[in-house]
Amino acid sequence: MQIKKGIAVSPGIVIARALLLDATEYPIPMRQITPESAGAETAKLEKAFADSISELETIISHLRKRIAKEAIPIIEAHIKIIRDHYLKSQMLDHIKKDAYTAEYAVSRTLRKYIKALTSNQTDSFWGSRVNDIYDIEKRIIRNLVQDKIAGISKLKEPVIIVSQDLTPTETASLDKNKIKGVTTDKGGRTSHTAIIARALGIPAVVALNNITLDIASGDLLIVDGNSGIVVIDPDKETIKKYSALGKNFDFYERKLLSEIRNLPTKTKDGREIMLCANIELPEETSTVIQYGADGVGLFRTEWLYSDSYILPSEKEHFEIYKRVASALKGRKLTIRTLDIGGDKLAATDGEAPIEKNPFLGCRAIRLSLQNTGVFELQLRGILRASHYGNVNVMFPMIATIDEIRQAKNILERVKNGLRKKRVPFNEDVKIGIMIEIPSSAIMADALIKEVDFCSIGTNDLIQYTMAVDRTNEKVAYLYQPSHPSVLRLIKYVIDQGKKHNKPVSMCGEMAGDWIYTPLLLGMGLKEFSVSPIVIPEIKKIIRSITLDEARKISENVFTMESAVEIDKYLRDCVKNIAPQLS
Ligand code: PEP
Ligand code: MG
Repeated sequence: MQIKKGIAVSPGIVIARALLLDATEYPIPMRQITPESAGAETAKLEKAFADSISELETIISHLRKRIAKEAIPIIEAHIKIIRDHYLKSQMLDHIKKDAYTAEYAVSRTLRKYIKALTSNQTDSFWGSRVNDIYDIEKRIIRNLVQDKIAGISKLKEPVIIVSQDLTPTETASLDKNKIKGVTTDKGGRTSHTAIIARALGIPAVVALNNITLDIASGDLLIVDGNSGIVVIDPDKETIKKYSALGKNFDFYERKLLSEIRNLPTKTKDGREIMLCANIELPEETSTVIQYGADGVGLFRTEWLYSDSYILPSEKEHFEIYKRVASALKGRKLTIRTLDIGGDKLAATDGEAPIEKNPFLGCRAIRLSLQNTGVFELQLRGILRASHYGNVNVMFPMIATIDEIRQAKNILERVKNGLRKKRVPFNEDVKIGIMIEIPSSAIMADALIKEVDFCSIGTNDLIQYTMAVDRTNEKVAYLYQPSHPSVLRLIKYVIDQGKKHNKPVSMCGEMAGDWIYTPLLLGMGLKEFSVSPIVIPEIKKIIRSITLDEARKISENVFTMESAVEIDKYLRDCVKNIAPQLS
């Protein structure tokens, strides 16, 4: 039995067998094979070719059903390249004559091809083909080495995924019925993989260092997403202990939910608080309602862009937002415009240059303002959906007042277009910004005048204030939501909201971590937007404290100088307020 400790990012306790996935970016060592295995290696290559072609044909048939068909020739070109006799004969030669593995043969051949293409720098047509070749290389190699990944969709037994890391798209495609838990070498509490695991209700522990080296597929595992513990090959006693803990946890969750679901979100002294949910996918709307949320405070829309070769059309945007807005039946729906970049890569990124510091690069509103066509499509979809529900629009990663003005101008242009065509939309759609960069928190007094509301995105605000990559487990100890500098920024934003009579909410993960609930209430926060599954806990705390008690806690915290001290104090407070949760 081996016990590993990582970061608990999605609650729940599960026991199941491991399914080990190789890294997405598979490293290809120059390994050689024995002459006898050349036949098997060739057969492997043929199969990977056939699998790749069949995947691409499936993509084409999906694309045919969609409105935009511009991407079909690109995919057809990929198939042509895979079928190219010359390239294939070179790969086969590498296997037979040089005794290379199939993976290395593919990589060597295609990299040589890329070199030839890029040597002609002035020819932009061939330059742009390079990304296609990388894409093809990745696909064939994945098919060579990652049969297991393809197998995820065909699983019969429930499993716990063990992986170096999962991309947000991979996480989003996990089937909750089969995937019981997730463990990864990398990641942090606010990496998007963690956020989606939470949204899907799959217990997860990340930042386990080299857990992929300690586990083989089929090993029995316990994942405790409450404490961050993973047990490999547990003994009978441990299995018994964790089964009981898991049952208790599930029972308590269900009981708390049924007790609290229909009760109002009010402090003990009757102050109303708005408790909304964050969603990633339209399918989560039913969970939002089931957990009794007051609405959706953050609808992340990146996933619309991440699983296709083509950008979503205006119709697709409109239909998805309309579906969610209608299902919410008048509850508010805050749709955040595209926030691709950072750790949220999209298929469309294949065409974007690779950035050295993606979190500081062309992300979110920056990308939208540089690609106004893409931005306008989304805005039109949002505006049209506003006719069918209580829809707000929110811009992410605002750093300057000029960005807000530019975004508003574009929104106005889109509105004009719709007016001209007599397409109905809500003329009074509310405009908000995310405060997630220190510059915008410090300038909140000015920025807030430009908009109807703002929402504090602590996931990024902490990352940028503390200069700590939110996905890097090596510096996770510095990722401190309660660092006094972060708290001062948050307080300033809340105060500016009050002064200018504009609603301020918080939609970063800090809002859903209940040790901070009393503090945030005391700081004056009136609106929380959290992962749906933690709504019962957050509501429980809100209902168990008066505003005066919360203010006292906040005053005490503001006399402290270290996050460690503050967290310890807040844990003790929660222990007193809601002993069941601590
Ligand atoms: C945030 O930064 O707090 C946030 C809610 O946005 P995201 O996690 O999508 O970057
Ligand atoms: Mg953010």
